[in-house]
Amino acid sequence: MSPKHSINFCPICGGGLCGIRICGVAAKDSIDIENQFAKTGSTQPHGLIVCDECEAIWLEPDVNTAHQYPNIEDAKCPICQEALWGPQSRWADATDVETLEWEYAVNPDLDANFDEGTT
Ligand SMILES: [Zn+2]
Ligand SMILES: [Zn+2]
Repeated sequence: MSPKHSINFCPICGGGLCGIRICGVAAKDSIDIENQFAKTGSTQPHGLIVCDECEAIWLEPDVNTAHQYPNIEDAKCPICQEALWGPQSRWADATDVETLEWEYAVNPDLDANFDEGTT
């Protein structure tokens, strides 16, 4: 699945998109919709920039800052140490980006072409 909102093309692999992910949230299909931002463990929702091709990770929405790679065998979020692709983490939608206050970093030209309201 491609990122919904991205900040740039990946300067590491050249072909991927640096997509915005939100982590530390309950799965959106959880029954308790009111609780969609329920904390998982003690971690507040937090954002990551992840390349959808090479999985380089940035902790800030700026690809000029230092990046890191997850463990290939067991990719973990560098902030909360939960699974990078686990149910507490997803590509950020517009609301998630607002939660992170990262709207300023989004490059609208890179947004995925599907309807935000359906997910
Ligand atoms: Zn990449
Ligand atoms: Zn996390």
